[in-house]
Amino acid sequence: RRVLGIEGTAWAASAAVYEVETDDVFIESNPYQPESGGIHPREAAEHMSEAVPSVVETALAEARERAAEEGRNADAAPIDAVAFSRGPGLGPCLRIVGTAARAVAQRFDVPLVGVNHMVAHLEVGRHYSGFDRPVCLNASGANAHVLAYRNGRYRVLGETMDTGVGNALDKFTRHVGWSHPGGPKVESHARDGEYVDLPYVVKGMDFSFSGIMSAAKDEYDSGTPVEDVCRGLEETVFAMLTEVSERALSLTGREELVLGGGVGQNDRLQGMLREMCEQRGAELYVPEDRFLRDNAGMIAVLGAKMAAAGDTLAVAESAIDSDFRPDEVAVSWRADESE
Ligand code: ATP
Repeated sequence: RRVLGIEGTAWAASAAVYEVETDDVFIESNPYQPESGGIHPREAAEHMSEAVPSVVETALAEARERAAEEGRNADAAPIDAVAFSRGPGLGPCLRIVGTAARAVAQRFDVPLVGVNHMVAHLEVGRHYSGFDRPVCLNASGANAHVLAYRNGRYRVLGETMDTGVGNALDKFTRHVGWSHPGGPKVESHARDGEYVDLPYVVKGMDFSFSGIMSAAKDEYDSGTPVEDVCRGLEETVFAMLTEVSERALSLTGREELVLGGGVGQNDRLQGMLREMCEQRGAELYVPEDRFLRDNAGMIAVLGAKMAAAGDTLAVAESAIDSDFRPDEVAVSWRADESE
């Protein structure tokens, strides 16, 4: 079985081919790079309308080649299902992805699968880690969640009360005049910086990043070297993510942690989580970078599990959902588990 995945919630126009039997993933991505400022929804949608058809064409060409190699009849569909990111994300971008997915599914007469982008961020880690019931930290651009599966849903144990973690870093870097995305620039400058104190805000199991972001801007405006502010930002924000992840492990009694999301590419965050897990005797799994940032591979991997469980969508009911929360997903692909 071979599944085509299509992703386009914000910045990455991406298409992937996932081979269920071999676990191999081919990913073709085309990122949107704002000329100035952050992600502009209209520009991002314009990018999607140009880039989605071409990444899908490349992925389909790959699928056709594979189908020919395995001796599939040239008239038969080269794929067995089409999975797309249904939400959460920017509405205008999601609508383009949804339209492309419906068109391809209808063209080949194969099932259509609507994937929750957040659940895909963590399921791809669970899949490749082989962990059974991990706690999952999703540290992405527009979100920050700590989740764990229980009774048919991914429960949100902790989440951001305001901005996403990557967006907070990006807003600071915009303020200092660096181009988008800011996260990697914060990482490289923080290496040469001295720690400065910034507000650490964890309430219960939830995070707040907006106060830190404003304090970091003020610190920079008052003349503190940008490297020091970057160091303070990383240490503070990642300590918050690590603290809540640790509390989630403790609360659930689980001993496995999976990282997801674009901010997860940060070495310092990975290091803090690794140290915390080692101290508790827990295991940490960090997916390859190509599966951490937005990508269609994760959509195809989860889409394959959903398709196998019969969790498919009629075209007429396949509308996108820009506020699609991870705990709204009735988990079909682990339905045999009661706990
Ligand atoms: P979501 O998945 O919530 O929709 P998103 O679409 O913005 O988020 P992701 O690819 O998950 O996309 O994450 C992008 C974010 O990751 C950006 O904010 C970027 O600055 C941040 N990022 C990328 N690399 C690093 C890094 N090395 N350190 C910190 N942040 C990083």
